[in-house]
Amino acid sequence: MSTAQVTPESRGQFKAKAYSATSATSQLAPTMISRRKPGNHDVQIEILFCGICHSDLHQVRNEWSVMPTIYPCIPGHEIVGRVTKVGSEVTKFKPGDLAAVGCLVDSDGSCPDCQTGLEQFCPHLTLTYNSPDPHIGGVTFGGYSESIVVKDHFVLHVPPNLDLAGVAPLLCAGITTYSPMRHWHVTNGKKVGVIGLGGLGHMAVKFARALGAHVVVFTTSKSKKDDAIRLGADEIVISTDPAQMKKHTGSFDFILDTVSAEHDINAYIQLLRRDGNMTLVGAPDKPHALSGFGLLFQRRSISGSIIGGIAETQEMLDFCGKHNITADVEVIPMQKVNEAYERMLRSDVKYRFSIDMASLKSG
Ligand code: NAP
Ligand code: ZN
Repeated sequence: MSTAQVTPESRGQFKAKAYSATSATSQLAPTMISRRKPGNHDVQIEILFCGICHSDLHQVRNEWSVMPTIYPCIPGHEIVGRVTKVGSEVTKFKPGDLAAVGCLVDSDGSCPDCQTGLEQFCPHLTLTYNSPDPHIGGVTFGGYSESIVVKDHFVLHVPPNLDLAGVAPLLCAGITTYSPMRHWHVTNGKKVGVIGLGGLGHMAVKFARALGAHVVVFTTSKSKKDDAIRLGADEIVISTDPAQMKKHTGSFDFILDTVSAEHDINAYIQLLRRDGNMTLVGAPDKPHALSGFGLLFQRRSISGSIIGGIAETQEMLDFCGKHNITADVEVIPMQKVNEAYERMLRSDVKYRFSIDMASLKSG
């Protein structure tokens, strides 16, 4: 054993500025948090931009009964920044490099899921926030902060040609929509539906288009029609109009449901062709009512998907670099985060908020 081995206890901690919520009803407000000093395999990152995911809002407001929130909660899992320090065993990164972190910061590395690059299913995974922190105790703190320290395996390389504010959302909205499309073989000529044109939905449209599919957007917002076409959709359906929905009966190979609130999924299952699949990525807390008959008659299936593994996340980032894909973002200062949450609830964001972390320096 090398004498240079550094333990969390021996290496200590440092302070970082952040924004936190102290209860389900409190606003996010400035605070100071502790981060571990980097160990041998750690990368320390100065955060430049962090996207605002609807999951941040669900978690801050304790809306998920399956994942109760531990307070104080510092959300943020769409992180991009610059490496400031690396541990002695880190070979993938050096100070000055661009780096990104998504929803995962650790896993056991030995289970069948980890061994096949599917860390998102590891029974011992550590989420970027709201997981027990194995290093310094308490709970993990996310990206609404000036810095973060993460094990090198969970740090991603950023293609140099992309705008960083638009890269941050790729780390959750990007991989969450890319992964199920790859899994369900979205390719040239497939007819793909995307339900909900929000942060996830607009990335899904871009990926489906880049993969060569015929893309149909289902939206409740008439005002998003022109944007949907600009983003790459071939057709738009106003989902509250039954006549428009009916025209597509039995025609989709794949539908991705990104809706964040309660809605009727049976109306969409009818639109799948024989053996078509609908995958849920949206995560409203209330269980969906499902009519089995919609599935039986055409051997349709419904499934779920959660983010993606580390290798696939890197593949997605490289795909974005090659195809020049980033999220359409509205860059905001940290101080506007509470207002941004209210606007996200009203579907008033085109199409992702990205927090400029330089704003944290002023408060
Ligand atoms: P978002 O930006 O708020 O987008 C959600 C979209 O859903 C809205 O823009 C709206 O689209 C539609 N919508 C909202 N309320 C609706 C309602 N009552 N009925 C029908 N449509 C409605 O949220 P997001 O960040 O994309 O996240 C979407 C969901 O995915 C959240 O529940 C989030 O927690 C979840 N999520 C899951 C994963 C995963 O790994 N599975 C990862 C990230 C996020 P229109 O205006 O076009 O109708
Ligand atoms: Zn997310």
